[in-house]
Amino acid sequence: MTTESGAVALPVGPHEHEPHANGINNRLNWLRAAVLGANDGVVSTAGLVMGVAGATDNRTTILVAGVAGLAAGALSMGAGEYVSVSTQSDSERALLDKERRELLDDPEQELAELAALYVKKGLSPGLAREVAHELTEYDALGAHAEAELGIDPDDLTNPWHAAGASMVSFFVGALLPLLTILLVPPDLRIAVTVVAVVAALAATGWASARLGFGPTGRAVIRNVAGGLVAMGVTYAIGSLVGTWV
Ligand SMILES: [Zn+2]
Repeated sequence: MTTESGAVALPVGPHEHEPHANGINNRLNWLRAAVLGANDGVVSTAGLVMGVAGATDNRTTILVAGVAGLAAGALSMGAGEYVSVSTQSDSERALLDKERRELLDDPEQELAELAALYVKKGLSPGLAREVAHELTEYDALGAHAEAELGIDPDDLTNPWHAAGASMVSFFVGALLPLLTILLVPPDLRIAVTVVAVVAALAATGWASARLGFGPTGRAVIRNVAGGLVAMGVTYAIGSLVGTWV
């Protein structure tokens, strides 16, 4: 589509396939949390089963330790996430309550405050006043929450959802080293588990760097190195304890 002067005319309004910016941020946060949860599951379970495998060849022992570690890790991740998201949404809710009260007590002052925020963002005072006025008519709390607090009152994170998501992602990550070490014959157990864990950590390191728009190479190396140290240290400790017992 071109205008008479030949310039490309930009369509007005959001593109059909362009989701709301808040939606993208939210989805990125979820994805990032899922990748980190899976990464935790891989590293902590790999360390655990390697430690036990350092002490014993017994498959049942490795299985029991691995399953207990998986359950404990997933529950602890879920509980931690529940607590931290609850605390955050409590404080967001308190801020929204305060804003709601201020809007009731002193609407004029609040309108001036909102207009001042838009002036700060670059609107001229007249237009800022007009925008503030219209947004206040439309949804006063929403406008104040967005401009002052950076919160969308209709989109507070649900602590149960967050807890469930991190439990599931930890569980999925933990399955990889656990199944690998259980299914591979004893003489190849350690080597194959190390290879599988390195591959998984390279993938989660790459994904978390991409989601954070950071350089991927260094993130992959750091993540893989962390996992190798965890497995090496617990295997060494397991071997030591195994010879003592
Ligand atoms: Zn306000």
